[in-house]
Amino acid sequence: FDHQPFPVRVVFGEGRAHEIGAEAERLGLKRILLLCTPGQEALARSVAAPLGDRIAAVFPGARMHVPVESVVAAETLLSGVDGLLAVGGGSTTGLAKGLALRNQLPILAVPTTYAGSEMTPVWGLTDQGVKRTGRDPAVVARCVLYDPLLSHELPVAVSVSSGLNAVAHAAEALYARDASPVVSLMAEEGARAMLAALPRLHATPGDRNARASALYAAWLCGSVLGVTTMSLHHKLCHVLGGMLDLPHAATHTVVLPHVLAFNLPAAPEATAALARATGDSAPARAIASLARRLGAPTSLAELGMREEDIPLVVHEVLARPYVNPRPVTESAVLDVVRSAWTGSVRP
Ligand code: NAD
Repeated sequence: FDHQPFPVRVVFGEGRAHEIGAEAERLGLKRILLLCTPGQEALARSVAAPLGDRIAAVFPGARMHVPVESVVAAETLLSGVDGLLAVGGGSTTGLAKGLALRNQLPILAVPTTYAGSEMTPVWGLTDQGVKRTGRDPAVVARCVLYDPLLSHELPVAVSVSSGLNAVAHAAEALYARDASPVVSLMAEEGARAMLAALPRLHATPGDRNARASALYAAWLCGSVLGVTTMSLHHKLCHVLGGMLDLPHAATHTVVLPHVLAFNLPAAPEATAALARATGDSAPARAIASLARRLGAPTSLAELGMREEDIPLVVHEVLARPYVNPRPVTESAVLDVVRSAWTGSVRP
């Protein structure tokens, strides 16, 4: 096997957001642009407070799928800036990556959801409704500071779908062609820790141990996403998000059990790992029933997809070939999309 992890410094622990000054110092950053979504500005400013006047400017305009206009708007604040501080979920990290790609600036990431983007070299930019993605080591965060206390206010519904988005990274890493033994260990542990944490934080959103486990799992799941090539699940979610503008994490949550029901019969080692992680010999069904119990959306119809869009999605998924444990035929994709649209998972 080949295994090529990225040189990311990871700092993890409750209350460790206070160490932001030391981490900025370690990277030699003197003038930093702070990035966040509009709703997370107060949280982002409080995280950045120890940096004082090293924060040269704040751009609270991160948006889902990184519209190129938001990158251009943030670029007007880059004069003299030597680093980016991204406090938030995948949308904020995505904006930092867009800026890093075009301006060669280092990223210090403080994730507040479980999306995992901070551990990957994958960037995405949306221009006039078309999302382009690519891989570039320049967009990998130099340092990721995980503080579980920052995720306590993440609403339960967002936490559940973001957590299952992370499980999807782990599941597809388990059957990735370029997985390695260490990837498999991290992916299984990431899935296990997340699936155990979600019911606990659903019952008690402020459960400190559950929040810490979920963020630990997010780190593992993001790490394996960053070093492997994803298959049908991620392809399908990319198409659904890009073409139909369906919400990212919720789409992953709905689609995952359907793709696993299709793929796992051809991936015995991944099936065994996910069976251990779920404690159930039928992991696809176990993940579907967990999502249902936790009140997550269970069908693409519920997310607003129209039935007449199914053929378009199937066509787009088939348009470019990619690696998958089972052959991606038209009838197979149609079956998966149709079952995800209705929400029925075969046992
Ligand atoms: P997000 O960043 O849009 O966050 C979801 C919502 O939660 C937002 O409204 C945000 O303001 C809010 N939020 C974030 N942290 C919060 C907190 N602590 N408390 C309260 N609210 C909070 O969504 P996401 O699911 O984190 O990320 C999705 C995006 O990330 C998508 O665009 C996806 O393509 C991208 N992504 C990229 C990669 C990659 O490797 N490039 C990996 C995963 C996801």
